[in-house]
Amino acid sequence: MEIAKRTENGSGQCVHLCRPPPAPDLPMQHRGADSGSAVFWRPWIDDGGEKEQEAPHNAVEAVPLKQGRSLMDWIRLTKSGKDLTGLKGRLIEVTEEELKKHNKKDDCWICIRGFVYNVSPYMEYHPGGEDELMRAAGSDGTDLFDQVHRWVNYESMLKECLVGRMAMKPALPKDYHEEKKVLNGMLPQSQVTDTLAKEGPSSPSYDWFQTDSLVTIVIYTKQKDINLDSVIVDHRDDSFRAETVIKDYSYLVHVALSHEIQEDFSVLVVENVGKIEIVLKKKENTSWKCLGHPQENHNSFIPKKDTGLFYRKCQLVSKEDVTHDTKLFCLMLPPSTHLEVPVGQHVYLRLPITGTEIVKPYTPVCDSLFSEFKEPVLPNNIYIYFLIKIYPAGFFTPELDQLQIGDYVSVSNPEGNFIISQLQELEDLFLLAAGTGFTPMVKVLNYALTNIPSLRKVKLMFFNKTEDDIIWRSQLEKLAFKDKRFEVEFVLSAPTSEWSGKQGYISPALLSEFLKRRSDTSKVLICLCGPTPFTEQGMKMLHDLNFSKDEIHSFTA
Ligand code: FAD
Ligand code: NAP
Repeated sequence: MEIAKRTENGSGQCVHLCRPPPAPDLPMQHRGADSGSAVFWRPWIDDGGEKEQEAPHNAVEAVPLKQGRSLMDWIRLTKSGKDLTGLKGRLIEVTEEELKKHNKKDDCWICIRGFVYNVSPYMEYHPGGEDELMRAAGSDGTDLFDQVHRWVNYESMLKECLVGRMAMKPALPKDYHEEKKVLNGMLPQSQVTDTLAKEGPSSPSYDWFQTDSLVTIVIYTKQKDINLDSVIVDHRDDSFRAETVIKDYSYLVHVALSHEIQEDFSVLVVENVGKIEIVLKKKENTSWKCLGHPQENHNSFIPKKDTGLFYRKCQLVSKEDVTHDTKLFCLMLPPSTHLEVPVGQHVYLRLPITGTEIVKPYTPVCDSLFSEFKEPVLPNNIYIYFLIKIYPAGFFTPELDQLQIGDYVSVSNPEGNFIISQLQELEDLFLLAAGTGFTPMVKVLNYALTNIPSLRKVKLMFFNKTEDDIIWRSQLEKLAFKDKRFEVEFVLSAPTSEWSGKQGYISPALLSEFLKRRSDTSKVLICLCGPTPFTEQGMKMLHDLNFSKDEIHSFTA
C-alpha cells in the first residue's frame, strides 16, 4: 500500500509529493512546457493537407511514411471502432514486469506520465519512424518523449491505444490497521472476492486531494465505458456515498467525512481514461488531514447482485393525468444527490403501507417525448418522471395515488439488464409495447433518435385495450409526423365500432407484417414489454420468425 502525502502550496494548488505528475485527462489539458499555448501535431509532416508551421528546434528528423499512413489515416483508424489495444475496452493496471515484456514491434507498450499505451498499431504512422518509437519499447518513455515531443497532444492522438495506468509500487504502512481507520489518500486493495479477481473487471481504486476550498475525490475505474450515469452519489449529514457501477459489479466509496461540506458538488467523468472526479466544496477553508472514516462496505468491489438496494427519499412535486387511469408523477431528488437512471433501466419505489415497507419496480421516462428537442422546464438531473397506471384494486398504486404534493417516497438505485451498446450501429429498431410496457420504450426511443446516426427506422407497435388507454397518443403521432424515421401503429384488443385501425392480440401474422428488415445483414433490435404472458408469447413468436437472441430484448423485473 502506498500513502500519497499531499500538501498545499501558497496558491491553494494541490501538490503531489510521491506520485507521478498529474495524469493526462482531457486532450486539451496538455501540460507541456508551453502549457497554455495551443497543442499541435508534428506539423512539418504531411498530415493530410493541414497548414505547415515551423518545427520546434529540438524536433527529430521525420522519416517518409508509407502510402496510407498519414495523420488523417491514423485518425480514421482510431475512429473506426477497431480494438487497438487488444483489451476490448478494458483498462488494466500495468506492473513494471508486465511493461518490460511488451518490447517488440508487434507488441510494443510505452509508458508516458504514468499511463501505458500499446503503440504497435501506431508504428507505421509515427512520423519519427518506427526505430525512434522502439527506443522506448517496454519502458517509461516520458523523458525521451519530453526531449522531442513535448508539444504533441499524445493523450488525444493515442487515446484509443491506452492500456491503463502503471501500478503503484506496494509499500506497507507502518501500522496497517491504523491506516485503515483513517482515510488519508489511497486505501489498501479493495475488498475483492477471489472469483472476481480472476473473472470480473479489474478493481477500481480511489484517491483524494484538496485545495483551500475544494476536496476532489477521484475514482479510477480502469474501464473506458464510464458515463455520468455510472456513478451515484449521495451525501447526507456527514455520510458520503459514491457507488460506481462497472459492468455487473459495484464499487463503493463510503465515508463519514471529517469536515462539513456545502450542499452542491459536481461530478465529472473523463471517459477515455475511465476517471470520475467528484468535486466537493468545503464549508470552511481549512486543510483536511484525512478524508474521513470508513463506513459500511467502504472501498468494496462486489457483484451488484450481492449489494443491497440503496434508497433516498424523494419529494412528489407534481402529478398529472395522462389517461383515465395513468398519471405522470414527478419526483425531486434530495439535495446533494447525483443520480441519472440509465436508458432501459428501472428503479424501485418504496412506501410504508399499513406499517410495512412495500416496494414495486417502475421505469423512469422523460417529461415528454419531445424533451430532447426543447429546453426542459425543470432540470432533468434533479427530477425523475414516471408514468404509472393506478389499479383501483391494486396494493401499491392506490397508496401512491394518495400522496399529496410535498410528500415523500423512497427511490432506489437503478437496476436492469438493458445495455445501451445494444443500440450502437443499429439500423432498424422495433418496439413492441403493451399498456404501461410502453414506459421503457420512451427513453430507448428518445436515445435512439438522438444519438444513433446509423438509425434508419424506429417502429412502435403499441397494444392497448381501447383508444382511451393509449398513453401519449398525440405526442406519438406528432413525433411520427416530425421525424420520418419514426412510425407508430396502435393495436386494440377491445376497440369501439368506430376504430378503423388494427385490432386483436400479438400474433405471428401481425409481427411478420410489421417486422420487415431492410436487408439480411441490417442490424436490428426488437424490444418487448408488457404483461408477462404478452412478453413470453411475443418472444416465442420472434424466435419462430428466425430473429436471433441478440436481436431481441425483453424488459422484465
Ligand atoms: P397489484 O396489487 O400488483 O395488482 C395489479 C392488478 O392485478 C390489480 O388490478 C389487481 O386487482 C390484480 N391482481 C392482483 N393480484 C391478483 C390475483 N391474485 N388474481 C387476479 N388479479 C390480481 N407499472 C407502471 O404503471 N409504470 C411503470 O413504469 C412500470 N414499470 C415496471 C418495471 C418493471 C421492471 C416491472 C416488473 C413492472 C413495472 N410496472 C410498471 C408494474 C408495477 O411494478 C406494478 O406491478 C403495478 O404498478 C401494479 O402494482 P399494484 O401493487 O398497484 O397492483
Ligand atoms: P393491460 O392494459 O392489461 O394490457 C395491455 C394490452 O395487452 C391489452 O390490449 C391487453 O388485452 C393485452 N394483453 C394482456 N394480456 C395479454 C396476453 N396474455 N397476451 C396478449 N395480449 C395481452 O396492461 P397494463 O395493465 O398496462 O399492464 C402492463 C404490464 O406491463 C404490467 O404487467 C407491468 O408489470 C408490465 N410492465 C413491465 C415493465 C418492465 O420493465 N418489465 C415495465 C412496465 C410495465 P386485454 O386487456 O384485452 O386482454
